[in-house]
Formats: sequence, C-alpha cells, structure tokens
Amino acid sequence: MIGGLGTFALESGRRLFDLVLPPRCKKCGALVVADDALCASCWTALTFLGPPWCACCGRPFEFDIGGDALCGTCIAEPPLYGRARAALAYDDASREMILRFKHGGDESLTRLFARWMVQSGEELFASEPLILPVPLHLWRRVRRRFNQSALIASDLARATGLSWDPLSLERARRTPSQGGLGKTARRDNVRGAFQVRADRRERLKGRHLLLVDDVWTSGATAEACIRACRKAGAAQIDLLTLARVL
Ligand SMILES: [Zn+2]
Ligand SMILES: [Zn+2]
Repeated sequence: MIGGLGTFALESGRRLFDLVLPPRCKKCGALVVADDALCASCWTALTFLGPPWCACCGRPFEFDIGGDALCGTCIAEPPLYGRARAALAYDDASREMILRFKHGGDESLTRLFARWMVQSGEELFASEPLILPVPLHLWRRVRRRFNQSALIASDLARATGLSWDPLSLERARRTPSQGGLGKTARRDNVRGAFQVRADRRERLKGRHLLLVDDVWTSGATAEACIRACRKAGAAQIDLLTLARVL
C-alpha cells in the first residue's frame, strides 16, 4: 500500500514537473513540442538506417537491388546471427547522445531509443523471439548502476508485447573494456566471456532469440553471446542494436 502511494506521489510529481517544464530536445536541449523527442535539426543530422539494406546484416545499400539481396561480406562469410538490424549509424551526430545514455541512465532517452529500434527491427519481431540483453559484468553494472542493454530490452518488450529475459545469459568472466582494441583483439578479449546459466538452458533450447545491445562496433561481443546461446541449443539468433559503426 505504502509502495503504491509512493509510486502515485512520484508519478504525480513527475507530471507536475512536466507541466512546469516544457519538453526539450533530447539531444541539444532546444524547446520542442512533444516529450521524448528531438528538434528538427538534430533529427536531420542523425543517420537513421532502413531499407534498402542487406537482408542479413542490415548494411544499407545505396540502391534498391531487390527483396532479399545480400551484401558481399555476408555472401563471402555468412555471419553467426540470422539477421542484424540497427536504428542509427554511430557517427559524430549520434555519439554524444549515445554515450550520455550509456553512462547517465536517462529514462526518457531509453524510451526514445526503444521507439526507433522497434521501427528498424520490425521484421525481427514477427517470429516472436525471446528478447535477451547483452549482459554487463556485475562490477561494471554496480559502477554504472544499471545495464543499458537491459533497459532497452525491457522497453522493447513492453512496446512489442514480447517476453524478455535478463537472467539466462551471463558473463562468465570479467573482460577489459573493448575500447581502443582492433577487431582481432576484440574477438580474443570476449572469447568465452559469456555463458547461459545451466539451470536456464531449457528456456533457450529451440527458441528464436533476439539479442539486444546498444552499439555494434566489431560484432565481437554479439558473436561471443551468440556462441553461448547456440551452445544452449537456441534455434535462431537475431541481433538488434541502437547504433552501428559503418
Ligand atoms: Zn536538438
Ligand atoms: Zn550483409
């Protein structure tokens, strides 16, 4: 009861706060008309990703070459995931906002990002996958107080009505930050770093999974997660990220 009242008071307070303070652009702080939105100039500076793109990895094509066309990389070396999609290019325009989200825990940014990811990942939701966030190691989660991938995953689950599971996939060991490492070094750094909890393997067996992360850089982290899920018997694993380095 007390919890309920507390939530009510908090919600009311928040609404009052929203009435007093007009909504601002989530990127530059300029006044905007709606909550959780960007102003027109920040919006146009961002590179949103969408078709035409490679049916497998989601890399944008310059021209529409037809339905299920694949890029050269996916033909030469088929990736471990089924399909990958990202909402945004990770570039000068998006970097600051994404880093702020990674380290700041701004809930309204999470809502905005999840909305974009629902759009770019639309075709991945059709087979009703179980949504799995890339886990953060405990010490890093303690330092940041939250796991940004789990925040996005829970918002995606809410928006799509799908289930999400933040417990089955876990870090098997602590890994140094991937920052500043090359592609091969990144792969070595996270090799074997993830595992599916033995008592939760049955949940993933034969399932279609959707792995969720914030930024897709070399793909090494996702690859290590996918290997762990495969080992647990997952049938197909797709990947959805907020942003992608192109
Ligand atoms: Zn703006
Ligand atoms: Zn591709």
